[in-house]
Amino acid sequence: MAQDWDKRTKLVHAGARRSQYGEVAEAIFLTQGFVYPSAEAAEARFLETGADEFIYARYGNPTVAVFEERIAAIEGTEDAFATASGMAAVSGALTSMLRSGDHVVSSRALFGSCLYILEEVLARYGVQVDFVDGTDLDQWRAAIRPDTRAVFFETVSNPTLEVVDLRGIAEIAHAVGATVVVDNVFATPIFSRAVELGADVVIYSATKHIDGQGRALGGVICGTREFIRGTVEPYMKHTGGALSPFNAWIMLNGLTTMDLRVRAQAASAQAIAEALQGDPRLARVIFPGLPDHPQHTVAKVQMGGFGTVLALDIAAGKEAAFRFLNALKIAVISNNLGDARSIVTHPATTTHQRLPDDQKLELGISPGLVRLSVGLEATTDLVADLRSALDAV
Ligand SMILES: *Cc1c(COP(=O)(O)O)cnc(C)c1O
Repeated sequence: MAQDWDKRTKLVHAGARRSQYGEVAEAIFLTQGFVYPSAEAAEARFLETGADEFIYARYGNPTVAVFEERIAAIEGTEDAFATASGMAAVSGALTSMLRSGDHVVSSRALFGSCLYILEEVLARYGVQVDFVDGTDLDQWRAAIRPDTRAVFFETVSNPTLEVVDLRGIAEIAHAVGATVVVDNVFATPIFSRAVELGADVVIYSATKHIDGQGRALGGVICGTREFIRGTVEPYMKHTGGALSPFNAWIMLNGLTTMDLRVRAQAASAQAIAEALQGDPRLARVIFPGLPDHPQHTVAKVQMGGFGTVLALDIAAGKEAAFRFLNALKIAVISNNLGDARSIVTHPATTTHQRLPDDQKLELGISPGLVRLSVGLEATTDLVADLRSALDAV
């Protein structure tokens, strides 16, 4: 039974559907719409679409449907909805379920665009959002009210890699009937135990590890069939955040190798963190797989691995961090993560530039902080490159 398959088998085969030609690789259905055999069939399809019947690519498409079924199978949810980007997934999941007057509690340490949705967009439509320190269960307990509708957090925060206790928060949230919505990008679908630990809705930016090769934007919302088809789909299909069939095909090909890539990248990230730990030019090496990480124990329970991203805090500050970035020969300066290429980012001046200085400090985004997304290059080359760039500091 397909349901009993290991994740690795599902990554290759789950949700596969073939046309009458029996193609081996997934077909790209680059079509905006679908022809009906008769006027009666068109009427019937607008009344109700069956599993292999489509109307318009904004509503659904065969290539996109394979991607949705495959992701749901590996995440362990009943269903999934694919979106044009990770942010279309975050905003779609939240806006489709929330109404004016609803109350939401969110972790404060969020990806910049997620913070914009929670802080600006939802407030504009009358949703009240209270922010807490995601790692402090007492703050969640104090903020969650009997009428709280949803909680939102990144299970591993960007860029400081705090691991948020999903099981602990889910218990508090579920006691009042609130929906637990998580952005699980840094945990990756490979190491995710989100559903088993209590997440109701799991969101990924497919742009990251799912593509894994820096080619295309995409996102996905995983949840119950009722939530995906009853709440998310009506909203998404009319507001237009659909994933393109071409990008769905790219993501499907990404999934095939995702287990191998993510495990290799995570092993390399662990080795790099261990190699650089204790270097006098670094104030901190942040990686959930290091025993001195403040939530190392939570990370062990919550994830099957510690992820592919680490953060290095260059002790001498911003100029030194810039010298470090500019001296790297292998890792490129950009802002994606989960790519096959190692990528370094200086959050304080790029992804989190918008934040006021006091908020940056509160979130641990110091002037010397560098985020490193570990790629598929040889670990020995990466360590040598990072060490020689540290010499330039
Ligand atoms: C990249 C990212 C997003 C947004 O994804 P896009 O595909 O760029 O829209 C959301 N959350 C986290 C944690 C991310 O890293």
